[in-house]
Amino acid sequence: MNAKMTSLGKSPSKIREIFEYSRGRKQLLGEENVFDFSLGNPSIPAPASVNNAIEELIAERDSVSLHGYTSAQGDLGVRKAIADSIEKRFGTPASSDDIYMTCGAAASLTITLKALCESGDEVMVLSPYFPEYSVFIENAGAVKKTVPTLPPDFTLDFAALESAISEKTVALLINFPNNPTGATLSAAEAEKLGELLRAKSYELHRPIYLICDEPYRELSYGEPSPFMPNYYANTIIDYSFSKSLSVPGERIGYIFVPSSVQDGRDIYAAVCGAGRSMGYVCAPSLMQYAVKECVYDTSDISAYDKNRTLFYSELVKMGYTVTKPNGAFYLFVKSPSGDGNEFCERAKKYEILMVPSDSFGIEGYARIAYCVKYEMIEKSLPAFAALMEEYKK
Ligand code: PLP
Repeated sequence: MNAKMTSLGKSPSKIREIFEYSRGRKQLLGEENVFDFSLGNPSIPAPASVNNAIEELIAERDSVSLHGYTSAQGDLGVRKAIADSIEKRFGTPASSDDIYMTCGAAASLTITLKALCESGDEVMVLSPYFPEYSVFIENAGAVKKTVPTLPPDFTLDFAALESAISEKTVALLINFPNNPTGATLSAAEAEKLGELLRAKSYELHRPIYLICDEPYRELSYGEPSPFMPNYYANTIIDYSFSKSLSVPGERIGYIFVPSSVQDGRDIYAAVCGAGRSMGYVCAPSLMQYAVKECVYDTSDISAYDKNRTLFYSELVKMGYTVTKPNGAFYLFVKSPSGDGNEFCERAKKYEILMVPSDSFGIEGYARIAYCVKYEMIEKSLPAFAALMEEYKK
């Protein structure tokens, strides 16, 4: 038995742990009396095109081929449709040979890291970060190097980033729009990041790869996040349809290795090899064919925007410190006591469930996932107000 895997299996993520706790409370008190903001599970339906595509595929396609294996890297026509959409939307050259279909962002990341890293290599991540990065990086035999961003807006700290780059740095992993802060990347930051990575790659005589984890790309409430291959050649995109099409349980996404990436053909081969070594071949075929018909579609995110506006303004009125998120569906609230765990524990008294920030690699905050019903946010507001009153005493 592998001791590391056993311990991983026995210690579920903090988010899952709270989610399980919420199930118990809901059974006891009724679903509507628990304010569960723990999980980033989309609450708006998939666009009609998703179900239509599935229905048409089932009605019209030969069942054997529909449910059969595709190529290991994904169906050629699906990869071509995705590559075409990348070219059209971002103006970035893309071909079917640059795309590897995956079971969502988690698989995209696991494969990319495995493809890029040798044992002991360093991968930089910006804190706060998605907690599973630690698991994915360790699985690739690499070492996570955390670089904090700058509160209150959680913008890039270029000086910290520069000094964190070492002889062992293989990649920087970023995620915009961000989970847990909702921060997006500006075009100016993208420019500067490209310059820094180019200069450092030049010094090291080899590329530092930029891995963009993009499940929230389509969930931007202002300017869309810059598409990093247009700013830095050695960028690899790890995409997922989970949030953009509200299909997280269907497990579908892709890796894009642009032709601009140095040694790109070898990197793509390493992606295929990593997928093969971990059994991540032939992503679910029905969903591959379905997303082919929906590459330009997104769920109607106006409901998230409405939630964001109400929640943010009401919490600020009550005295909470929170930066207005520009993307994704999370609010990152500062603990009034300075202790994120204490804040989340105390909130449980009011049946408010949030995730403490230490699992995201930063102390003193709580994450609220606002991809919930508007009415639940409205109903939870008196509880948040009562919670704040306790801190004012
Ligand atoms: N990366 C980030 C930042 C996420 O928030 C998530 C899921 O919430 C993932 C990756 C995993 O996404 P998927 O469900 O597509 O594997």
